[in-house]
Amino acid sequence: MIKKTFLVSLCALFLGCGGPSGVAPQPRIGKPVSPEELNLSINTSLMVPVGQFARKRGDRMNPKYITIHSTQNPHASANARMHATALRFGRLKSRNNSLGYMSWHYSVDATTTYQSLPDTEQGQHADYDGQGNRSSIGIEMCENKGNSLEATMEQTARLSAYLMRKYRIPLSNIVPHQHWRRIRYSDNKDLGHKNCPHFLMTDGKPGPKWEAFKNRIKKYL
Ligand SMILES: [Zn+2]
Repeated sequence: MIKKTFLVSLCALFLGCGGPSGVAPQPRIGKPVSPEELNLSINTSLMVPVGQFARKRGDRMNPKYITIHSTQNPHASANARMHATALRFGRLKSRNNSLGYMSWHYSVDATTTYQSLPDTEQGQHADYDGQGNRSSIGIEMCENKGNSLEATMEQTARLSAYLMRKYRIPLSNIVPHQHWRRIRYSDNKDLGHKNCPHFLMTDGKPGPKWEAFKNRIKKYL
């Protein structure tokens, strides 16, 4: 125990503590800014109503992570507004989680960002009653036909940076959905790790494409 503490202190002394594994030092995070300062417009006109559908329980959360997803819905109409509308009217039911509804905080496409839940309320997007849902803000990137994935990722990077600065979340806590192991609430079945967001994973795991996405975020910190 003492040894461990000593090692941690040494790491703190030598800033970054890359160590033999070559883990990159965490970038400094700037002070909180308004969404406009990051060229971001957050539409809250379709928030899920308090006490209804995915907010019927209103579980509180102190956001420590950001979980990045993609919708895997290629239909041309499946943009951010459509997903926010579906959440707003309780259309995304789930028989397998403890709430009965799926939910996440933000839906992003190339041009628009919709917020569905307050940042300080738990969603049901990552791992049932696991740490992912209990402590992370969920962002869904839309991949509908005709939507620019490039612009969607850039907008998601700006949103992530905005939230990181607001809640002091380090870059190491920006994780793909794949990060969380899913134990299904309804029957305790271990569903393992989902390949999500699939277009940023390499063989189902974070690799160079995920690193490139994190580098996008760094520009806005
Ligand atoms: Zn996902």
